[in-house]
Formats: sequence, structure tokens, C-alpha cells
Amino acid sequence: METIIEPFRIKSVEPIRMTTAQERAELIREANFNLFALKSDDVIIDLLTDSGTGAMSAAQWAAVQRGDESYAGSPSFYRFEAAVKNLMPFRHVIPTHQGRAAEAILFSIFGGDGHVIPSNTHFDTTRGNIEASGAEAYDLVIADGNDPASTHPFKGNMDLQKLAAFLDSYGDAVPCVMLTITNNAGGGQPVSLENIQGVAELAKRYGKPFFIDGCRFAENAWFIKSRERGQADRSIPEIVRDCFSLADGMTMSAKKDAFGNIGGWLALNDDGLAERARAELIRTEGFPTYGGLAGRDLEALAQGLSEIVDEDYLRYRIRANTYLVERLDALGVPVVKPAGGHAVFIDARAWLSHIPPLSYPGQALAVALYEIGGIRSCEIGTAMFGRQPDGSEKPAAMDLVRLAMPRRTYTQSHTDYIVEVFEELAKTKDKLPRYKIVKEPNLLRHFTCQFAPI
Ligand SMILES: *Cc1c(COP(=O)(O)O)cnc(C)c1O
Repeated sequence: METIIEPFRIKSVEPIRMTTAQERAELIREANFNLFALKSDDVIIDLLTDSGTGAMSAAQWAAVQRGDESYAGSPSFYRFEAAVKNLMPFRHVIPTHQGRAAEAILFSIFGGDGHVIPSNTHFDTTRGNIEASGAEAYDLVIADGNDPASTHPFKGNMDLQKLAAFLDSYGDAVPCVMLTITNNAGGGQPVSLENIQGVAELAKRYGKPFFIDGCRFAENAWFIKSRERGQADRSIPEIVRDCFSLADGMTMSAKKDAFGNIGGWLALNDDGLAERARAELIRTEGFPTYGGLAGRDLEALAQGLSEIVDEDYLRYRIRANTYLVERLDALGVPVVKPAGGHAVFIDARAWLSHIPPLSYPGQALAVALYEIGGIRSCEIGTAMFGRQPDGSEKPAAMDLVRLAMPRRTYTQSHTDYIVEVFEELAKTKDKLPRYKIVKEPNLLRHFTCQFAPI
């Protein structure tokens, strides 16, 4: 069969509140043109993030009932720990309430003034945690990764030559090497197993611990299976285990590829580092067998980890994004190709070429998608990354708008509606206004800053 159907039936539904274009024009103005400030009831299709917004399965809800809320030594923790170790064979698994809490703990150890930390592309919370510790974050993705039109199969790869040069020139200032799979901020693009091996070898040669930000490990493994030579006949869990066997540890947001509404973890091999991490965990999150989560959450994640590596699910998941990319491409909308794992990215700088990067073309597009169709998307560009540590502002590498796809939540007819909104927008896009930022916080400004059209 050609049609790849959603490999699930719907058992429980949530109504969507419809709004009019007139209402939305008013609502977005009240939100100071920042989509994070909208109430989700005022959104028709919410593609702000795929984080924590997925639908849990019947088996996950059943597992929730089994949650044991003992403060210490809960069986729910041991089921969670076993599920993680089954895919990621690290010695220590430390649960946190989200991915960023795992990052904060990691960089309380590795961050600090004078340190520099390379990655393919640091996600915004990773960068925020590194910079808050006094260290600096560097992105060393391959050149294809910054070219929205390139069809390289692994656009999330680290540039190994740049990494070697970086390790040479910064020497002792580098406390560890990071790698994000898939590369969220760079378009949800995958990293090949060969590249992970290359990064691991370099890190080892220079004596640096190697950490994977593994938020979308299953989608990444699907891309490895379907695009990398010699991987087609291997199972997803085998590929996942190969990836993580190369690392000394990982951070994880379980709100992504663990089908959780909340959760995360930090995993490590080194006993001494794990001891320091647990001490920090107790201070900031909770006791090591719950770490900021309820027992019921740990159960949902343990079950979710067994569902996320299902090949029928992953085939449908990636196909759904490819379908949207194909439809938008046919309309002449510049989309990042090939489709990423969790999202479809629009090249707003190319499509709205009358808006210069420092006037936030991505924000202009995101606002227009809301006004026309009630779609909530997210700017990943100069509003998110343009602010420099010294307070100045420069264009980000790209000005993208991300349509993040919640897992198992929307159907193909929702996707067809999204395409129709773009069709409508294509008629007026050259008249969209530029934006300026009128109020912003010091760190991670895109979440709370206020915009105004010029
Ligand atoms: C979501 C995400 C994080 C942060 O995780 P939270 O659970 O939102 O705190 C870190 N890295 C990447 C790549 C992510 O996608």
C-alpha cells in the first residue's frame, strides 16, 4: 500500500476550539506578537513544540496506575532505569524533571568561567545552561547543516575537521564534547553513526568525555537505518545501543523520544562524576530514585521507551513530515530538505526576502501563520540566537520557522489544513511587516520578549 496510515486508533479525544481571523488578530496583539504568550485554547493547531505534547498510549496510562510513590527505592524507578539501560548502556541513570535539569547538573560539573564546549549545534537550553555557568558554547555543524537547500542525508553531522582544530587550539579549556541527535536547532537533521564514531574517536584522542544530547535518539536511529550504508537490516534498538555505547554519558528530555509529558535524565559511566551529579540532583531536583518526577511518570517513560523504537511508528512519523515537506515544496515554499525527524522547517529568510534578518523574518512568518490559520509555530533564528553575550545583536546562521510535530497527536487532515494556510499566506507574504523587539530578558529571550511590527 502507498498510503502510510497513522498506526494507531483514537481512543480518547480533545476538542479544538475554533477561532476567527478577527479574534486572532486581537489575541496576537495582546500577546505582544510572541506566540509563547498565547493561551493554548486560542490555538487551532499547536506546532510550537513536540516537547511533552505527544499522546500517551493506553499501555502508558495503564502503567501510570502502577506508579509507586515511595520516596526512596520505588519499583517504578527500577523499571525506568532498566528501560533506559536496555537502550543506552550507561552505568548510572539519574532521573530529572526535564532535559534542561540534566544539563544544569552536567554543566555545574563541566561549565564555569574560561571553559568552551563544542557541539554540532547546542539546543537553546543547553547553550543557556553553558553560558549561565560562565562557559561558552560553540556550534561546529558541517557546512551543509547551515544550508537549507542542501539535501545531505546527515545534515546534523559534526564537522570533524573543525572539531579537531577546536580541540587543538582550546586544549585544556575544553572540559567535554557534546553532540545533539537529531540536531534540533539545526532543523531536526540526523547525525550518522559514522559521524558519532568520528566524534567519539576525537574526544578520546584528546582525553575529553563525550556526551550525547539524545532527545530524539529513535528518530535519529531511523534515519541511520534508512540512509546509512550497511544499516538497513539492523533493528532500531541495536542501532540505538551502538550510538550510546560510543559515549561517556548523555542528557535526555523524555518529553521527546520517550513519549513522556514530562521527564528527563542524565546518564554517566564515570562513578566519581555520577556521585557529584547525584549530590547536585539532591540539592536541586530530589532523591536519586525519583529526581523531580513522580513514580507514575517514571512508569510512563519506561513503557514509552518500548513504544518509541517500533518501526511502524517511526516509518509513519518520518513519512508524515516528508508528506508536509513535499506539499509545501510543490507550493514553492522554501522548506528545509530533506524533512527533519520531528519538525518541518521553513526558510523564512529566503521566503520573506524583503525582511532583513535583524527585523526577524521568522517571527513575521510565525505571526502570520497564527493570524491566518491559528497555527502556532516557533521562530528558530535571529530572535532566538541573535543576541550576543556582549549584548550586541547579529543575524543567526539561518532564520527558520519550525513546525514541530507532536507525537501521535495530529492526523493527515490537520496536515492538509496547514498546507491550505500556506497557500493563503503565499498571496500576501510580500506585504508582511518587519518586527522589532521592544522588551527582552537577559537570557533565552525568545520565550518572553515582546515584539512590535514596524
Ligand atoms: C527539548 C530539548 C532539550 C531540553 O529539554 P527540556 O525537557 O525541554 O528541558 C535539550 N536538548 C534538545 C535537543 C531538546 O530538543
